[in-house]
Formats: sequence, structure tokens, C-alpha cells
Amino acid sequence: YKVNKAQFLLCAAWKSQWPNHQLPEICLAGRSNVGKSSLINTLTNHQKLAKVSGTPGKTRTLNFFNINDEICLVDVPGYGYAKVSDAIKESFADMIDTYLRDRELMRGLILIVDYRHKPTHDDIQMYQYAKYYQIPVIVVATKEDKLKRNDLNKNEKRIKETLDFQKGDMFVRFSSLNKVGIEELWQDILKLCHL
Ligand code: GDP
Repeated sequence: YKVNKAQFLLCAAWKSQWPNHQLPEICLAGRSNVGKSSLINTLTNHQKLAKVSGTPGKTRTLNFFNINDEICLVDVPGYGYAKVSDAIKESFADMIDTYLRDRELMRGLILIVDYRHKPTHDDIQMYQYAKYYQIPVIVVATKEDKLKRNDLNKNEKRIKETLDFQKGDMFVRFSSLNKVGIEELWQDILKLCHL
């Protein structure tokens, strides 16, 4: 899949601010510092589209990106950042819950996890959120470059077991550093968008 156009559309804290378009939307979530911004930049081949590691946990809005006037990627703020208050955590949960529940254009969730580690409590919660609303999920295990070859299958199995990974969901091995998994991830996205 070739990205000719990747454009920041808007950021939204409230439902009333969501873009008024007809593009299928795919949202991306993951804990702070997992490599989500890098993944968005790598995937779109636009090195500054999403900001890489400014202050973690700072952006608290949904960021919408138009890709080729065909697909809209929605960047969900990183979760699990310890320093934000409970009130902010609650408003985050509200924002993402409203989006997952009410956004009719939404076609699937990309859940980004660290390939090296067992998914965290927050990762599991995010996955279960999606499953509760019957949203298809692409689990992307990133920082693949940091694993030894022997651990690739072992860690994939551990991630799937921890999440209680459902049949029909997808799993992609990804590395922004080594540009691994880009085409496979696009194919999965296109499938979810029926493109
Ligand atoms: P975000 O907070 O989830 O948006 O994470 P960032 O994209 O800002 O990345 C967090 C850190 O992980 C940065 O230091 C990145 O350089 C690093 N990183 C991101 N993706 C990869 C990857 O695929 N491989 C390696 N080795 N490092 C990565």
C-alpha cells in the first residue's frame, strides 16, 4: 500500500469535534512509550506525522489523520502513564469509551504492545474493551528488532495467551527501526476497511 498523502486533520476531546467525513477509521492505542508514534510515522512513511516522545502522557485528545483520502487513522493518547491524575485517567477512559461505542465509521483497533514483554493490565483492559464492543483488533507487537530469533514465537504465544486473543483477530510483528511488518499491517488495515 502506497501512502501518497498523510495529513493531520484535527484533534478532538469531545464527540462534537470528531471529523464529519465518510472515511473508514482505524484507531491506534498502546501504553505510553510503546512506540506508537514511531509506528504511525513508519507506517505512513511521514517521519513527523505523529510526535515521537515529547512529554509522555501529555496529549489527551484523539488525533485524526487522513491517509490518501481513503482511510483515517485515529491516534489514541498513550495510556498507563503513572504521573497523570485519576481525574485525567477517568476522562481518558470516557473519551475512548465514547469513541469505541459511538463512532460508526470505526472499523477496528490496532493495539500496540511491546514484543519483549507480557501485556500489562492496561493492555488487557484495552483489548477487552474492544472485544466487549465486538471491534476487530490487530495486535501489533513492536520493537521486534530487540528480540532474539528464538524468542519470536515464544513471546507471540505469551502475548496471545495473556490477552486471551480471539480467533479472527490479527497479529503483526513490527519494527519501526528495521521497517518490519509495514506491508502486512496495511493489508490487515485494508481488510478491516473493506478496501
Ligand atoms: P509512544 O510514546 O508510544 O508514541 O512511543 P515513541 O514512538 O515515542 O517511542 C518510544 C521510544 O521507543 C523511542 O525512544 C523510540 O525511538 C523507541 N522505539 C519506537 N519504536 C521502536 C522500534 O521498533 N524498535 C526500537 N528498537 N525502538 C523503538
